[in-house]
Amino acid sequence: MDPNELNLLSGDPLPEELPDTNLLRPQTFDQYVGQGEVIESLKVAIQAALLRQEAMDHVLLHGPPGLGKTTLASLIARALGVPFLSSSGPALEKGGDLVGILTRVSPGTLLFIDEIHRLPRPVEEILYSAMEDFSIDVIFDRGSSARTFRHRISPFTLVGATTRAGLLSAPLRDRFGIQRDLEFYTPEDLSLILLRSAGLLDVDLTQEGSLEIGRRSRGTPRIANRLLKRVRDFVQVHAHGEITQELARQALRLEGIDDRGLNRIDRKFIETVRTVYNGGPVGIEAMAATLQMDPDTLIDVVEPYLLKEGYLARTPSGRKLTSSGWGIDFELAGNPST
Ligand code: ADP
Repeated sequence: MDPNELNLLSGDPLPEELPDTNLLRPQTFDQYVGQGEVIESLKVAIQAALLRQEAMDHVLLHGPPGLGKTTLASLIARALGVPFLSSSGPALEKGGDLVGILTRVSPGTLLFIDEIHRLPRPVEEILYSAMEDFSIDVIFDRGSSARTFRHRISPFTLVGATTRAGLLSAPLRDRFGIQRDLEFYTPEDLSLILLRSAGLLDVDLTQEGSLEIGRRSRGTPRIANRLLKRVRDFVQVHAHGEITQELARQALRLEGIDDRGLNRIDRKFIETVRTVYNGGPVGIEAMAATLQMDPDTLIDVVEPYLLKEGYLARTPSGRKLTSSGWGIDFELAGNPST
């Protein structure tokens, strides 16, 4: 698989998209588009924590990459007026890594752990008492002379983000007082995000141009912002001027994105279920082997949008094409090269 292609699709932030350097990341709730119900309930929780002058309840945010989980966590910290610390499941390899962070946090700190489902189990177990009573059990010696010392830590708020809530153990999941699913964005919401981004990047983008990019961004703000930069480059080289609907369409076809908003990997996925597996059901491991891709990437990044758009269905025996999945005519879809 072309790494460039995967890059565009993947939720992993590029260096310029990391929190410190990302110009496009919303800085206030007003700039955060969409996710209405989630935002409303979080604002209530923030307000209540401020009134009680307590650390806010722990929050679990679930949804595919690029939908705004990290952004939301940083906005909560800002609204609470507390320090924001960020880490991730795979980065916290040993118990000591987490203990080191927890014992140093100042009161009220918001600790964000991305990909929290990938925390190793021993590290996760430290979180149980830390989240519940702001304490850590430190064990001295081994065997019969083992002693436990309970170490108090400052109250903090944990915001966990995951693409797979199902992989979280029940004890960990239960300790999050607030659990919310983020939804894919509508083309109209993405258009708003794109118009703001265009302003920040000093790019001339028409309303229709923004909707065209929004429709082809797999419902994902991170992808929308990436595509905007690709379209900007295209227009700079080929047209000089504002980004119109037609120019956006041309530029995105060149990126391999068809009129339905499906990219090469999406089409390859659907084509493979159709031709190799006769429409399914097919297991994800078999798909991953055929496509020579990592099964986790398929589950986290590729499938959610195809399921949401109704091209694919998940059954106990595997993935199956729906009638719309069968019905896709790639030739008629303004299909760039597959
Ligand atoms: P996640 O943590 O879910 O992978 P991020 O919070 O890193 O996603 O979001 C990716 C990028 O998309 C952000 O840097 C920001 O520029 C943009 N973004 C995400 N959600 C929104 C939103 N609701 N409104 C505006 N921009 C957003």
